[in-house]
Amino acid sequence: MHHVVIIGGGFGGLHTALSLRSSPVKITLIDKRNFHLFQPLLYQVATGGLSPANIAAPLRAILKHQKNVTVWLGEAHGIEPKTNTLHLKDDSLTYDSLVVATGGENAYFGHPEWESVAPGLKTIEDATRIRKKILLAFEKAERLPVGKERTAYLTFVVIGGGPTGVELAGAIGEIAHHTLRHNFRNIDPSEAQIMLIEGTDRVLSTYPPELSERALQSLHRFGIQVLTNHMVTHIQPGHVQLQTDANDRIIMYSHTILWAAGVQSGTFGLALAQATQVQPDRAGRLPVEPDLSLPAHPNIFVIGDLAHFNHQLDAPLPGVAPVAIQQGKYIAKHIRIHLKGKSLPAFKYKDMGAMATVGRASAVAVIGKWKLWGFVGWLAWLFIHLMQLVEFQNRVLVFFQWSWNYLTRNRAARLITGGLLDPKKLKKT
Ligand SMILES: Cc1cc2nc3c(=O)[nH]c(=O)nc-3n(C[C@H](O)[C@H](O)[C@H](O)COP(=O)(O)OP(=O)(O)OC[C@H]3O[C@@H](n4cnc5c(N)ncnc54)[C@H](O)[C@@H]3O)c2cc1C
Repeated sequence: MHHVVIIGGGFGGLHTALSLRSSPVKITLIDKRNFHLFQPLLYQVATGGLSPANIAAPLRAILKHQKNVTVWLGEAHGIEPKTNTLHLKDDSLTYDSLVVATGGENAYFGHPEWESVAPGLKTIEDATRIRKKILLAFEKAERLPVGKERTAYLTFVVIGGGPTGVELAGAIGEIAHHTLRHNFRNIDPSEAQIMLIEGTDRVLSTYPPELSERALQSLHRFGIQVLTNHMVTHIQPGHVQLQTDANDRIIMYSHTILWAAGVQSGTFGLALAQATQVQPDRAGRLPVEPDLSLPAHPNIFVIGDLAHFNHQLDAPLPGVAPVAIQQGKYIAKHIRIHLKGKSLPAFKYKDMGAMATVGRASAVAVIGKWKLWGFVGWLAWLFIHLMQLVEFQNRVLVFFQWSWNYLTRNRAARLITGGLLDPKKLKKT
């Protein structure tokens, strides 16, 4: 039987497997994690609004009734296209069709050393690390006298004014102004300064300008200062250095610097590019043919964030979930039709719009011809995100959690986890 190997159980890989449900193929789905992660809600975990398990679902549970899929927990490491062999870190297997949907990782534009100071948001571990950083900053400020050091703990810098940066900054604003109110005795959390840094001239630069403006107004309402046309030139523990387009330099003192400025393909993408002699783009994405196969390798398909698909618009398709999902469904159809000796027209992306929340009860959204913002945009955001969560149980849990958070202004998942605190260090720093 035709063996389809899928690497990655994210949006692209999972939807390929699900769409091959009733096809006469044998599928092996490989992921280095044992769960599918709903990344659009990672910022909610990072800011204590949801727990990690609310936005992740075990791959085995999702696919338990689909008899033609075997799930492997493993990490793809290398490939030999001539023999159709995929190497995992601890095993090897052969394929007839290979679907690569390994997504991306945080990109620091040639400064990997920034990562330890300014964590990005891509995994569950990133989210809990950021949550810890944000909550610890308030804890440390509570035990410091008024002064420069306390101000640095109460200053939060989010780098990157795309949807993730806007959502993170908005949620920190909500924590400072609402969630933590009356929780401390020596500090007033609402005095926290939250800065959002963007290199271009507006936040949400891929959205219509009108919605960028609406998002900016909401950010200001939540007390967030937005610096556009500012590039980060240096990050060190305790401060970040920025450069304006007029070449002025600014130093901002903060112990909570968060990165939301870019994604690049991971190590397997680079190994694949080398093995297939395909030249990746600057972000490490692999150019694909109109049918999503790699040039000269008709049985290797690359989809989602790892693919550079430039056969439809002036720019490559964006790294968003609907692109990965539609590509996964297309590949499933492609394989099915190909097995019947026929072929399929080129992949065509149907743009369903985009949306981002900007703090409590506020969001901007483009859905088809509709532009929504404020409370109505937020309701649309809530509904669509709830419906997209993979498991019904998570939908119910998230619905109740959000309703509770909305009514009480609380964020029950604001736990500091991952290592005990040294009380001396807490007092000293
Ligand atoms: C914080 C954040 C917020 C976002 N918000 C939105 C949003 O609001 N709307 C939207 O449309 N999109 C959003 N996105 C983008 C969206 O999540 C991605 O476009 C989408 O996840 C891409 O799907 P994918 O299948 O290509 O990769 P992913 O979903 O990233 O899945 C990749 C999978 O591959 C696995 N993997 C990686 N390397 C290997 C390996 N070597 N071996 C085995 N397994 C491997 C990973 O464990 C992972 O499960 C957001 C992304 C982030 C990070």
